[in-house]
Amino acid sequence: MNSSYVVAKFGGTSVADFDAMSRCAQIIQNNSQVRLVAVSASAGVTNHLVALCQNNLTQIERNKHVTQVCDIQNSILKNITLDSDLADGFNQTLNLFQELAQNDNPSEKNKDALLSFGERLSSYLFTQVLRGLDINAVRFDARDVLKTDSQHGKAIPNISATKDAALTDLCPLLESQVVVTQGFIGSDNQGNTTTLGRGGSDYSAALFAEAIDASAIHIWTDVVGIFSTDPRLCVKATPIAKLSFDEAAEMATFGAKVLHPATILPASRAGIPVFVGSSREPNEGGTWIEKEKTIHSGIRAVTQRKNQILLTLKSPEMLLASGFLAKVFTILAQYNISVDLVTTSEISVALTLDNAPNASRPELDQACLDLLSEFCHVTVENNLTLIALIGSQIQLQQQEVNLMQVLSDFDIRMICHGASKHNLCFLVEQSRSDHIVQSIHSRLLEA
Ligand code: ADP
Ligand code: ASP
Ligand code: MG
Repeated sequence: MNSSYVVAKFGGTSVADFDAMSRCAQIIQNNSQVRLVAVSASAGVTNHLVALCQNNLTQIERNKHVTQVCDIQNSILKNITLDSDLADGFNQTLNLFQELAQNDNPSEKNKDALLSFGERLSSYLFTQVLRGLDINAVRFDARDVLKTDSQHGKAIPNISATKDAALTDLCPLLESQVVVTQGFIGSDNQGNTTTLGRGGSDYSAALFAEAIDASAIHIWTDVVGIFSTDPRLCVKATPIAKLSFDEAAEMATFGAKVLHPATILPASRAGIPVFVGSSREPNEGGTWIEKEKTIHSGIRAVTQRKNQILLTLKSPEMLLASGFLAKVFTILAQYNISVDLVTTSEISVALTLDNAPNASRPELDQACLDLLSEFCHVTVENNLTLIALIGSQIQLQQQEVNLMQVLSDFDIRMICHGASKHNLCFLVEQSRSDHIVQSIHSRLLEA
């Protein structure tokens, strides 16, 4: 039985400045069920923090990023006066940030500490903006509840430890006030700060919702829902009113940046519906993601994920041999490399890996490549895009079109279909991918 509480998450553009924060505060004021709020860093801040994690920055470059982070906070602070309980914490946090930002060659642990400051700072400011509307709001440190392993930059949450901590430390606070916490950050067993990967605040909101047994998760962003493709790329993209957990999970996994890829996991595990809407236009509706009730068959969306790596491993010894794939995957697992698409032939296996720019951790490790090279010929290709057609019961012969005919116009590097009923994926040259997505959208998704 779910509680009646709603978890709301506000992304970077929604908390970019005082006006944006005020619109979000209004949304909270209009819905008394919203009791737990997870905020992102103000837009742009995490990019500066990622830049500060680079090695060998010049002092001038370092100072520039620090100043820009501080300027964003100050432009919001100009509009509010922090209550003393928030002011002390805010000032300490800002000082700590400025100190840590001076470290050259930060360790993985210190990188996560540095990356956490965006959310830690914005949550102080947002709490005060809520108080400005007479909302009884308190700030809460997400690291006290969101427990993870120690994989810095890409930490894996510990679901049961998070639930236990939420039950004792967080749930009692929700009874009488709005609790503002941070997305994206958590802590490991030793109390070190960890992060969930870029865009991870959506995932945090879903994890918090699962932990407090919420009735819904509201993801407030800068678009009025999940569209048939990125609305920035196709002006004719249309919002989708309802998606199943499976469809939404596939869209997020295959590049619909509007949701972090893992967001749907906790929601679907706990049966909590997810709403995605625009904090700028909260009355324009949005997308509801729920356990499937009605089945729409066919393609509903097209997504793309740029900066993919294609790893081809060739070994004549693979012919009629067993154990080759097991060996390959054991090594990839050892380096925490997550594989998306896989195709195999008699003597080779081709794999795709995500190499997101601005990721807080590089995907492919040279040491891993060296290990693979000991028993097979390794080729690495970059500058590829993975395009996915998403829906339910996708078949090569759709109602009116033959998908193979549509796809035959493009130079496809690799194709995967069949492992999931919800997608058909293929790899193309990155320089052509925007055009291919637009063309597919116009032929398959525009009436
Ligand atoms: P936030 O900062 O709120 O987390 P993001 O920038 O992470 O927001 O995600 C919102 C962006 O996702 C939109 O501005 C849009 O350009 C992009 N996007 C990509 N694919 C889709 C899609 N299918 N539907 C809606 N938005 C999408
Ligand atoms: N601030 C983090 C990022 O920009 C997390 C998030 O916004 O979801 O990646
Ligand atoms: Mg996001």
